[in-house]
Amino acid sequence: MKYVDEFRDGELAKTIAANIAREALATSGYHLMEFCGGHTHAISRYGIADLLPSNVRMIHGPGCPVCVLPIGRIDQAIRLALDHGVILCTYADTLRVPASGGLSLLKAKALGADVRMIYSTQDALKIARDNPQREVVFLAIGFETTTPPTAVAVKQAAVEGLKNFSILCDHVLTPAAMHAILAVEGLESGKTVPLDGFVGPAHVSTVIGSKPYEPFSDDYGKPVVIAGFEPLDVMQAILMLIRQVNDNRAVVENEFTRAVTRNGNLKAQQIVSEVFELRDTFEWRGLGSVPDSALKLRPEYMAFDAEHKFDVDYVSVPDNKACECGAILRGEKRPQECKIFGTVCTPDNPIGSCMVSSEGACAAHYTYGRFREIPLVMEVS
Ligand code: SF4
Repeated sequence: MKYVDEFRDGELAKTIAANIAREALATSGYHLMEFCGGHTHAISRYGIADLLPSNVRMIHGPGCPVCVLPIGRIDQAIRLALDHGVILCTYADTLRVPASGGLSLLKAKALGADVRMIYSTQDALKIARDNPQREVVFLAIGFETTTPPTAVAVKQAAVEGLKNFSILCDHVLTPAAMHAILAVEGLESGKTVPLDGFVGPAHVSTVIGSKPYEPFSDDYGKPVVIAGFEPLDVMQAILMLIRQVNDNRAVVENEFTRAVTRNGNLKAQQIVSEVFELRDTFEWRGLGSVPDSALKLRPEYMAFDAEHKFDVDYVSVPDNKACECGAILRGEKRPQECKIFGTVCTPDNPIGSCMVSSEGACAAHYTYGRFREIPLVMEVS
């Protein structure tokens, strides 16, 4: 297949759905986690869960970058914009994530903060060049997909001698979060979620390759199938996972061969490793503090580190008591199990981060109305 609409072909979808129905053993349960918010969005948008037998259950994972950002990280950005008077640049979804005191970056902007939505790191650099008298901070969030452009921007700023540019670095790492999900002691709640396999990330894997997932099959015995974000990609990956479970196999397979290789994009990895190093620990919404799960700037790029440049220490802040984002991001609950889902909390008025981005589980469920049909079956030991 060559064109995107071929990956949305209804007849082919029916064929794959029939294969899934035939091969999923009635005597087994298949608990499959799609790590990425992009897959969560595709599952909701295309009604994929409705095409699966009742014993094949998709569990939403923590792979939405906006969702996993804890409140304290947004608070830091707001303090930079309101208290330090910087021009705070970030991607659109981040603007609406609820923070402390009823604020968000968008509400801080309404209070007079200079918060700007950008489309790329190059926009942030341009703003810094155009405003040499102002400090410009880029709130850098995301998984391995968005890290290389941030690294390029920092290197570029260093070459140009842009002294008024810095980043608030909240880049996080996918394999570390998968380890946290599988390692009981890594979870804030201390609960385990039954998992029979992972639909592995698409865009992240184009950068890191398929190799970093091998410990999940080799050490944890969990099959991983890397899949693209189109509906047929996701359905084919589900079928491949079911086949592995039936055969009692656990290997890393790559459905997304049109974009992912075993070693990934070595050039991007090299640039990232030149600019960033591991943080000892980083707090994730839902997962708590996860060791070696995020990046910080290397000492030679310290001048571009907003946490170093300004007085904005990280302060951990608990989620809104009514919000179940933490349990949803751990795969323990579904959006419709939150008491305020779709009533108090909607995409127009998000109370938690999972209702903000289109990749967030709550927003995806709400937008496509899938919660109306899917029965609730929870098994958490
Ligand atoms: S519906 Fe809203 S409040 Fe509830 S878990 Fe989702 S984002 Fe949080």
